[in-house]
Amino acid sequence: MTARLDDLPLRDDLRGLVPYGAPQAALPVALNVNENTHPVPQDVADDILDAVAIALRDVNRYPDREFMALREGFAEYLGHGLTSDNIWAGNGSNEVLQHLLQAFGGPGRRAFGFAPTYSMYPLISRGTGAEWAAGTRGHAFTIDAADAADQVATARPDVVFLCAPNNPTGTPLGIDVIEAVYDATDGVVIVDEAYQEFAPRDERSALTLLPGRERLVVSRTMSKAFAFAGARVGYLAADPAVIDALRLVRLPYHLSALTQAAATAALRHAPTMLGMVDEIVGQRERISATVAALGYEPYESWTNFVLFGGVDDAAATWRALYDRGVLIRDVGIPGHLRVTAGTEDETSAFLDALASIDSRS
Ligand code: PMP
Repeated sequence: MTARLDDLPLRDDLRGLVPYGAPQAALPVALNVNENTHPVPQDVADDILDAVAIALRDVNRYPDREFMALREGFAEYLGHGLTSDNIWAGNGSNEVLQHLLQAFGGPGRRAFGFAPTYSMYPLISRGTGAEWAAGTRGHAFTIDAADAADQVATARPDVVFLCAPNNPTGTPLGIDVIEAVYDATDGVVIVDEAYQEFAPRDERSALTLLPGRERLVVSRTMSKAFAFAGARVGYLAADPAVIDALRLVRLPYHLSALTQAAATAALRHAPTMLGMVDEIVGQRERISATVAALGYEPYESWTNFVLFGGVDDAAATWRALYDRGVLIRDVGIPGHLRVTAGTEDETSAFLDALASIDSRS
């Protein structure tokens, strides 16, 4: 006998919600959740294993609640004069975002983002009790500074999400948009730079805007460029007062000793861990050029994935690729599909499979 969700005394504001549900199918070529499909290099994996083995000796004790070594590692990696006082981390940047919403969102408050954007923003907002409000984007999913400021001023949110570059579209976000949005709200502005390492090297990060902006937060993750999705490590940089606010809502010892040890060791090898970024960017450019040559319409991407339009029936094409052993993502934008840049072989498998299907609109 199995009860239905409706039979339970569930919170009213959770009724009707659908959980995050990217399919986890065991297909030979999985390019659907923007992972780094290159494994961690062996010498780095060995060093991580040594660090985890040492941490295991003390695993009868609770871990460092302040994860100081890891915060120092992130501060050094990010640069920009940041110190461990500016850093927070969690089990994936999703948890970091959840901490932010627990502290600055919650019941009676409103979170805002420019749709289409990362699908977890509304889910984490609502899950922590806040209302979600969606703004709009302009041509090719871009955001204009003046228009963004107008939309934010009208919506009066407590928390604003700016995904830079944006998932699921890949779209770059101008620094001027962040400045304009910050000035248009009294709320917390979260710039989600999950894919920043895939942007052109000389482009400015929102980290450069942190001095003097105590309501600005820049979140990052080790899941993408660092090839560490399975370890679940995300982090942010902000004014130390923001970090104090997050201490109010985190569970004690939320980062396990094993996670801290693994991530700290991985960070010591940042250049090697990031060694595949250029290769992935090369595959991304290859995808864009090839899908365009096949008659589809790829969007500019500063990430490790490409959104392309001009698909006659996105669900049917997704299924046809699935049947050929290639898993990509139907992100719910009619006529569009999103594919992660894989290794050269995986990318070839996707492009060959797509070429064998006639699904242009
Ligand atoms: N932000 C964005 C924009 C993402 O695309 C993702 C993962 N798909 C995340 C945050 C969360 O990543 P993680 O929890 O693995 O750090």
